[in-house]
Amino acid sequence: NRMYVLAERPKGAPDGKTLRLETAEVPSPGPGQMLLRNEYLSLDPYMRGRMSDAPSYAAPVEIGGVMVGGTVAQVMSSDVAGFETDDWVVAFGGWQDYALSDGTGVINMGKSPDNPSWALGVLGMPGLTAWAGLTQIGQPKEGETLVVAGASGPVGATVGQIGKILGLRVVGIAGGAEKCRHVVDTLGFDECIDYKADKFPKALEAAVPDGIDIYFENVGGAVFDAVMPLLNTSARIPVCGLISQYNATSLPDGPDRMNLLLGTILRKRMTMRGFIVFDDFGHLYPEFAKQMSDWVTKGKIKYREEMIEGLEHAPAAFVGLLDGEAFGKRVVKLSD
Ligand code: NDP
Repeated sequence: NRMYVLAERPKGAPDGKTLRLETAEVPSPGPGQMLLRNEYLSLDPYMRGRMSDAPSYAAPVEIGGVMVGGTVAQVMSSDVAGFETDDWVVAFGGWQDYALSDGTGVINMGKSPDNPSWALGVLGMPGLTAWAGLTQIGQPKEGETLVVAGASGPVGATVGQIGKILGLRVVGIAGGAEKCRHVVDTLGFDECIDYKADKFPKALEAAVPDGIDIYFENVGGAVFDAVMPLLNTSARIPVCGLISQYNATSLPDGPDRMNLLLGTILRKRMTMRGFIVFDDFGHLYPEFAKQMSDWVTKGKIKYREEMIEGLEHAPAAFVGLLDGEAFGKRVVKLSD
């Protein structure tokens, strides 16, 4: 069993020393357990938080512990009711070839699911994040303007496409011309603004002539600075993620804008609400799964995946994910 364990807590961006590859015997399942062979490992921004012992909504990975992660796996043997050999499952199997499970939180996809790895993306955690954050906190109404950051990523791409289905004007924000072209031409957003280009705040302003009713926050930092003055009265802001800050080691330079933000929330009577997807919206999973698989099957929601071949390439692919290198959902294929 090959496994990546946390070797040291990164200061700033993770690097080659953060994770260490170890090998051990394939574990033997005990009574009430099943043995899973991980086929696909999801790479997600939240993993940076688990490498750190700063305060968070979830406990950090211990030094020497196997790095956590969502996986799509096949059941090798099972003493758990509802799971049999050769079933495909979505589990939390971690960065390793094999994992034991007692079935808690594991979803059975049956013997031959279509596109099993999509259960780590549009049909799984990032998809639920997009759908629940937008519908439950964003409270969209037809004709409103939605702006979503991280627009080419698994969450942002899904948020924007749902926004189009619900009759919103949708403006994405992404890094670079290629991602922006994809967001408009393939995903069908009305516009996409490159936050790395000159005059980004002006370009964003021009793209939202009626202001912003919903801002789906995935990134924070300079992007939020440009968004804030454009928010309308009664704007809703699902605060989903702040990826621009995950590797930060200190607060950014510049004037303290805390009271500018508080004043804006007050004057504009805005609602900003953070959420942690399974804690807040896990109970909506069945409704989400039904709706999203229908949209995906009908081609109303498109999905882009970047398959990384081999567990040994997972650490570098994760570092790149935090750096803007990913173009679509990054998934690692573990076995041949
Ligand atoms: P993404 O694939 O969108 O994240 C990677 C992308 O983030 C990069 O490709 C890059 O895109 C963008 N990015 C990186 N650095 C910056 C920066 N400094 N400024 C702006 N953008 C940057 O990830 P997901 O779709 O999986 O997740 C999106 C967000 O949602 C993350 O913040 C994640 O933590 C959060 N999340 C929250 C959940 C919750 O329960 N609250 C659940 C799931 C996800 P580009 O090239 O466009 O810059």
